[in-house]
Amino acid sequence: MRKKIALSACLAGKNCRYNGELKGNPEVVAHLEKEGYEIIEFCPEDTCFGTPREAMDLIQTDEGIKALTKFSNEDRTLPVVEYAERFFTKHPDIDLFVGKARSPSCGVCTALLYDEEGNLLSDTEAGIMAAEAQARDIEAVDDENLTKSH
Ligand code: SF4
Repeated sequence: MRKKIALSACLAGKNCRYNGELKGNPEVVAHLEKEGYEIIEFCPEDTCFGTPREAMDLIQTDEGIKALTKFSNEDRTLPVVEYAERFFTKHPDIDLFVGKARSPSCGVCTALLYDEEGNLLSDTEAGIMAAEAQARDIEAVDDENLTKSH
């Protein structure tokens, strides 16, 4: 049976980034296609908030890590968590999660975490959806590390 890969849709060339800018990763897509994997695309932020949209950051708060919009400080954590829960429930047999590096939703071990004053605390965090994948013991990798490891 073909392996199922969950892939950040922007990497496949979808126009779903916060600013509408295209930022595909043709090398990753070509690698996955060459291996014959079944690719299932996802984009929590486009589905939940539309494109274009205000960018968000991961912020360490007293209540844990939250995804807050950069300027209006809106908490967007829950919609992304709920999207991820729906996605992984619909696709319970994902073999590998490939997320866009540094995204606060999809980055696997490259997302940036700030404190509430805007100071960088870490650049090795999991984004909100990537953390859901990891919580379900799904193997997960940032796009820029895929060809090194798979
Ligand atoms: S990184 Fe994730 S949330 Fe951001 S545009 Fe790509 S798929 Fe959507």
